[in-house]
Amino acid sequence: MKNILDRIKAGEVLVGDGAMGTMLFSKGLKMDQCPEKLNLENPMILEEVAQLYLDGGADLIETNSFGGSPLKLAMSSLEDKTEEINRIAIQSVRKVIGDSAYLSFSCGPTGRILKPYGDTEPVEMLESFKRQIKVAIDENVDLICIETMTDIFESKLAIEAVRSLSGDIPIIATMTFDPTPNGFFTIMGVSVEQACKELVAAGADIIGSNCGNGIDNMIKIASEFKKYATVPLIIQSNAGLPEIKNGEAIYTEIPQFMADKSQRLLDIGVNIIGGCCGTTEEHIAAIRQVVDKYNMDKNNS
Ligand SMILES: [Zn+2]
Repeated sequence: MKNILDRIKAGEVLVGDGAMGTMLFSKGLKMDQCPEKLNLENPMILEEVAQLYLDGGADLIETNSFGGSPLKLAMSSLEDKTEEINRIAIQSVRKVIGDSAYLSFSCGPTGRILKPYGDTEPVEMLESFKRQIKVAIDENVDLICIETMTDIFESKLAIEAVRSLSGDIPIIATMTFDPTPNGFFTIMGVSVEQACKELVAAGADIIGSNCGNGIDNMIKIASEFKKYATVPLIIQSNAGLPEIKNGEAIYTEIPQFMADKSQRLLDIGVNIIGGCCGTTEEHIAAIRQVVDKYNMDKNNS
């Protein structure tokens, strides 16, 4: 399969997949359960989710390894299963997609806070990411997706972990921003401008934002990224902000609404459009149509 960065450079816009958590909840995962424990208990569900997103038209399919760092797994006493959990996450997706889409290895926050604000030494966090990501490199994933980060130092440690194991595997690095009266910042105080500069300097190939916002805010965040970014952009928006009803998160942005708004992301110059919390294969299929039309029009012009 052609390198993803070459396809983007040639002008093609790609489609990411949608939420993992939302899909797992709809298949019976409880909100207080460790989502990665499912990899050990019922990996068939991982194949079902990958199949739905592949059929929906996603070019990138993510693994259920978001919380698969040993530091994070330790919170569920599963750190001894780090290798097994991450390997099953990858193999389940690969079994479904072969090389018909890119296998994007999801790597989320450790759940720990670095010193001096928290109690975690940078080297401990780095080693944790290395242990998780080594499984991904050994299993030949196509991309590493470091996502939902709010601390730039944690993002950079994850990127450093990848680059210590592979000099050339493409890295996607995305952060989650909140609107404030002074613009968009992560809860740890990182601006879009700072994210752009530091993620690229650390070695990310594709940057952007995922989670935390519906599509309208994501359009604003994308415009801000476009001002500073020197590499391709990815946006994975939530289907709005969740309302919790009976312990269940309800998202209100329907597929066609998100797809219509995705046109704005294309106008801004976003290179990969996918979804985050609340999005399903139906959102991805609707976005796929808008992106296909864009790619076709571009080829004909
Ligand atoms: Zn999300």
